[in-house]
Amino acid sequence: MRCHKCPQRAVIRMRQHRLALCKDHYPQWFIEQTQRFIEKYRMFTHQDRILVAVSGGKDSLALWDVLWQLGYEAEGLYINLGIGGEFAYSDESQQAAQKFADQRRLKLHIYHVEERRGESVPAIALRTHRGRQKPCAVCGLIKRHTMNQMARQLGFSVLATAHNLDDEVSFLFGNLLSWNLRQIPRQSPVLEAEEGFVRKVKPFIRFSERETAAYSIVRGIEYIEEECPFAEGSKQLQYKDLLNRLEEQQPGVKLRFLLGFFNAMEQGFIHPIEDEQGEVILNPCPSCGQPTSTGDLCATCRLFEEN
Ligand code: SF4
Ligand code: ZN
Ligand code: ZN
Repeated sequence: MRCHKCPQRAVIRMRQHRLALCKDHYPQWFIEQTQRFIEKYRMFTHQDRILVAVSGGKDSLALWDVLWQLGYEAEGLYINLGIGGEFAYSDESQQAAQKFADQRRLKLHIYHVEERRGESVPAIALRTHRGRQKPCAVCGLIKRHTMNQMARQLGFSVLATAHNLDDEVSFLFGNLLSWNLRQIPRQSPVLEAEEGFVRKVKPFIRFSERETAAYSIVRGIEYIEEECPFAEGSKQLQYKDLLNRLEEQQPGVKLRFLLGFFNAMEQGFIHPIEDEQGEVILNPCPSCGQPTSTGDLCATCRLFEEN
């Protein structure tokens, strides 16, 4: 198959866009599309300082690479969760992120959970859940807390994560299956800054996993292919698998599902649920200073208080 823009062989065919591109035109298209999404959703400008959350995987390193190529002031944040296993997942991923940053002379900030908090994420989860569950809930809480805290402490105006179409569609699908009405309206390409919370953006929200992987491969990015060992068998992976099978039969169904949802949000058909008292009042956590609705320690600080 030939590239739609030149006589070279195409490296990717995107049925949902009716487009096939070669190794030169694909990264060009990918970067232009990202810039288009940044502008369309008013994510940030060249005046912003952007902190990119990197995991060492294909999506986050691709995002950092694209922002760097577009000339944005973007630094990286790697959170070492202390996840090991046969493959030393956290340390290997940190090395991949560091190598990427060094090759481009970019600044990578590292937050090592065990060094800062005295315990790794799996150890915290084991203590708080007595080992009955996967550490994902604790891990998600700590990651969200740390990303916001680091972005604010280091003076960044924007926090960018590399959530892609597959992540967002499987998340939306899961929330709809369980009618999680509080969470559904919070899913958006941009979460505006609020008191104590930095602005959060997802520039890759319209790219599929296949597209971000193709970009990383064509650009020669050395990313970690292994998934976190705790991801295996997760509901998110089951939903992704199901939706990919549907996509094969109906090209473009994932993108239509997500864009239809955003459209319904924009038109006001789906809107956030207000609490009975109206707005939720947030106070600074007495330990870390981040906003919390509890009137006492925030959920993350409570995890360590129990120690
Ligand atoms: Fe954390 Fe791994 Fe679970 Fe992801 S799969 S939330 S990295 S423990
Ligand atoms: Zn071409
Ligand atoms: Zn706190």
